[in-house]
Amino acid sequence: MTGKKMLNDILEFNKQFVENREYEKYETTKFPKKKMVVLTCMDTRLLELLPKALNLNNGDIKLVKNAGAIVSHPFGSIMRSILIAVFELQADEVMVIAHHDCGMSGLKAGPVIESMKKRGISEEKLETLKYAGVDFEEWLHGFDNVQESVVHSVNTIKYHPLMPEGVPVHGLVIDPKTGKLDLIVNGYED
Ligand SMILES: [Zn+2]
Repeated sequence: MTGKKMLNDILEFNKQFVENREYEKYETTKFPKKKMVVLTCMDTRLLELLPKALNLNNGDIKLVKNAGAIVSHPFGSIMRSILIAVFELQADEVMVIAHHDCGMSGLKAGPVIESMKKRGISEEKLETLKYAGVDFEEWLHGFDNVQESVVHSVNTIKYHPLMPEGVPVHGLVIDPKTGKLDLIVNGYED
């Protein structure tokens, strides 16, 4: 399916959706009923599975997603989203949910850079970035161990200088097939 076809399909469906007032059953507020913000991976398998497996419905949580459920920078947009959820949107608990078989697991910069070159990103541009102080290898690197990655992200959130006291930060790993959760860090236990 081409991009243009997909966009047309979505817009056509959307027109019907609004006209038929199908949004009514999703109406809620911007404040999470379960007072929680969840960071998870953008993996396609989790799109519906994760909310169903955790019994989450529209309006229950603030949901933040990226590749790998990784907080890679303490002042990046992921951390900012979590802080906004806590300070402005009444979330008072944080959950990081990574998953098995993640695309970021074992991801090395080398093959990604090769793909970029094949798609026309020039060697010169890559060199320019290097000399502009961008650690490209580090930036593209995923993680080697999903549990360790979860613990690292949990700690980055928990010990962030702007995170208030008393906000439990949990770390979990979900099975992208069965939805089974494994608890890695219980944020209530400290
Ligand atoms: Zn993933």
